[in-house]
Amino acid sequence: MKKRYLFLLALSLSTSPTWAQKKVKNPKNIILMIGDGMGVSQIYAGMTGNFGQLNLERMPVVGFHKNQASNAFVTDSAAGATAFSCGVKTYNGAIGVDASGNPVPTILEIAEQNGLATGLIATCSITHATPASFISHQPSRSLDEDIAKDFLATDIDLFIGGGRKFFANRKDGLNLVDSLKSRNYQIANSIEEVQQVKSGKLAAFLADEQQPRFSAGRGDELVKSTEVGLELLKTNKKGMFLMIEGSQIDWGGHGNDTQYIVEEMIDFDKAIGKVLDFAEKDGNTLVIITADHETGGFSVNKGDTKTGMVEGKFTTGSHTGVMIPVFAYGPGSDKFAGIYENNTIFHKMMAAFRFKN
Ligand code: MG
Ligand code: ZN
Repeated sequence: MKKRYLFLLALSLSTSPTWAQKKVKNPKNIILMIGDGMGVSQIYAGMTGNFGQLNLERMPVVGFHKNQASNAFVTDSAAGATAFSCGVKTYNGAIGVDASGNPVPTILEIAEQNGLATGLIATCSITHATPASFISHQPSRSLDEDIAKDFLATDIDLFIGGGRKFFANRKDGLNLVDSLKSRNYQIANSIEEVQQVKSGKLAAFLADEQQPRFSAGRGDELVKSTEVGLELLKTNKKGMFLMIEGSQIDWGGHGNDTQYIVEEMIDFDKAIGKVLDFAEKDGNTLVIITADHETGGFSVNKGDTKTGMVEGKFTTGSHTGVMIPVFAYGPGSDKFAGIYENNTIFHKMMAAFRFKN
C-alpha cells in the first residue's frame, strides 16, 4: 500500500500536476460529470468523430464500475444516479431512496451541510432522473412536480437545466419560480441571461421541458453553463460539489442514432475541457467522469479519424448491463482505479472530501 502510494506520487510528480506539486491530499472541490448512456463505444464514436482525440484523454486515472440495480441486471438512470449520489444500490426508477424506499442523504446535501457551494447542470429537465437523484427523494422518477418541490427543501446555490413547467405551471397551482425568487435566486430563462449572472444564487430554466439536441438549437449551452457554474461556485472558500450531466448521449442511444451520439459526446467533452482547465489551474479539485450505464448496445464498426466519419450499429433501443469506465483527475483520483460497484463511487468521493460528521 505504502509502496504503491509512493509510486503513484512519483508518477504524479513526473507529470507535475498542480495538486501533486502542492501535495494536496483531500480536495476542496469535487466535480462529478456524468455522460448519460456513455459506454466505451459512445466515447470512441465521439473520439473518432472529433478526428481522433478528446479532452477526456487528459484524465490520468481510469477504472470501471459495475452498475446492476438492486432489482435488475440492467439499470436505469434513476438507480444509476442514486448509486453515485447516495451510495446505495436501489431499484429502477428510485430517486434518492434506497431499495426499501427510504430517503438517503445525497452527497450534494452533505456537501451543503458542510458549508460547500453546490450545483447541478444538465442538458435535460433539471427534474429528470440524473440531476434529480442528487437533490430529491421520491419513490419514482416520473414525479417531476414533486421532484421540483424538493429543490426548495435544499439551499442549492446553482442549477441550470430544462423543466421550467414543473416549477411554474403545476397541477397544485404553486409557482415555485416565485418561491425561488423570494429566496434570493436570480432566475434565468436563456443562456444569455445565465451568462449575465456574476455572483449569488442562480436558478436557470433553458427549456419548458427538455432542451433540444445540440444540432437542433441547443448549441454550446452546456459549455457556457459550465463556465458560469465554475465561476459562481468557486467563490465559496470551503469548496464546491458540482454535478454536470451530458444528458442526451443516452437519447442518441435510445434512438439508435450514431450522429446524435457523436454530437452529444463532443459537446460533453467540450465541457470536460473547461472543467479540466479549471481543475488544473486550481490544484484543489477532484474531477470524476463516468456514466450511469451504456445505451443501445452500441458498437463502432467503421470510422475515419481524418474525416471524422463514424458508422455504428445497435443491438437494442434500451440500456445494457456492461461495465462503465470511470475517469479521475486530482487529489484522491488514485482511489478510482480498479473495478468496483457503482455505489462505491459515492463512498470514494466522501472519503476524498473527508467531512467531519
Ligand atoms: Mg440522465
Ligand atoms: Zn436511458
